Amino acid sequence: MTNESSCDGGCTCRHVRYRMRGAPLFVHCCHCRWCQRETGASFALNAMIEADRVVLLAGDVDVVLTPSNSGRGQKISRCPRCRIAVWSNYAGAGDAIRFVRVGTLDHPDRLPPDIHIFTVSKQPWVRIPPGVPAVPEYYDRAEHWPASSLARREALLATGRPRGPM
Ligand SMILES: [Zn+2]
Ligand SMILES: [Zn+2]
Repeated sequence: MTNESSCDGGCTCRHVRYRMRGAPLFVHCCHCRWCQRETGASFALNAMIEADRVVLLAGDVDVVLTPSNSGRGQKISRCPRCRIAVWSNYAGAGDAIRFVRVGTLDHPDRLPPDIHIFTVSKQPWVRIPPGVPAVPEYYDRAEHWPASSLARREALLATGRPRGPM
């Protein structure tokens, strides 16, 4: 993770440009079948961050309601022109937390995964580097998140926004 530096990103046609202010709360590499299907690849790489720390610099997004593993759906924000997905909001965390698609950042190498999740359906050729936490399905946030991220989450919940598991 980076510290307080900003990361810019956007879609492929450059209609959408955004800035992520500061470090994400946590970065998930998700190997579930849903993420594999959505990406057309082997996993999704999502940086979780407070929605108000993601600023649109240019363009706008179309929000597409998409089925999710939880059954409660996710809202995928896509460029209205090239349809690239730039971030999602899941029902659990509500609109307060965005899952920014790391691959849409200009410097995606800055945000390697903090954890690998749903490794039960990991494609067998994918090798997880030693030392990086990996769990078969989901995980206990208190066990894995850094204290600073837990504190940021508490602050977010204290503002009265929707509560729930992220
Ligand atoms: Zn675009
Ligand atoms: Zn997934």
